[in-house]
Amino acid sequence: MTSWKGGPLNERVTCTLCPNPGPMTLEGTNTWILSAPGSDEAIVIDPGPLDEEHLQQVLADVAGRGARVALALFTHGHWDHAESLERFAELTGAPVRGNCPGAEPVSDGEVLEVAGLRTVAVLTPGHTMDSVCFLLEQDGVLFTGDTILGRGTTVVAHPDGQLAAYLSSLDRLAGLAADGTVRTLAPGHGPVLTDAAPTVQQYADHRQERLAQVRDAARESADLSRSDLADAVVASVYADVPRDVWPAARQSVLAQLDYLDLGRP
Ligand SMILES: [Zn+2]
Repeated sequence: MTSWKGGPLNERVTCTLCPNPGPMTLEGTNTWILSAPGSDEAIVIDPGPLDEEHLQQVLADVAGRGARVALALFTHGHWDHAESLERFAELTGAPVRGNCPGAEPVSDGEVLEVAGLRTVAVLTPGHTMDSVCFLLEQDGVLFTGDTILGRGTTVVAHPDGQLAAYLSSLDRLAGLAADGTVRTLAPGHGPVLTDAAPTVQQYADHRQERLAQVRDAARESADLSRSDLADAVVASVYADVPRDVWPAARQSVLAQLDYLDLGRP
């Protein structure tokens, strides 16, 4: 386990790490603060769970940059990213954008000119259907939420998440990494990754490997219901993964069985 603690990425970007570590959240949720040097505005991405101490720390870190929160962005609606949505809006009075409930939707390619920066919304459904990444253009930094994590792999959160959509989103990110638009990945959990292109490729490869494994494991018990088949597949394909992540693995397996149309619905 690396010991990611958050902190500055460059003069425009810093991370306040929420103290909610766990098997799915790694060291905790990364709350990202963006502001151009000298700007009195800041963007906050994923204020996180409803943890008042963390929210106050985020506000203190924004104030420490001589700024106030001018925009809150949400990568998706899972509690560990967005449970604080209403409270953060109340604390800051800032507009709240994202495709999760309670936020004003963003459209694909929408440019947000706030805090002296150009930040572009890149819709990446898959982990959840409301997942959005945000691209800080000048640095080539993509804030990925849970679409790509700092370590390990992400979950396709069945039934809301969809594998076909997730694979298309990875394809799209691979294109953005290949042409140099995206160079660095700033995930919702875990450390920053400075090798965007190979990382996105690893995610795509891993998904295809798991799909092949799931297809093979499912073939042996093709007469089971999808739910029973998922249990059998998790026990065989994810045997090497700690049991505390099996419930999440099961969601991914269900998404894969859906995608492969295996098991009785
Ligand atoms: Zn998360």
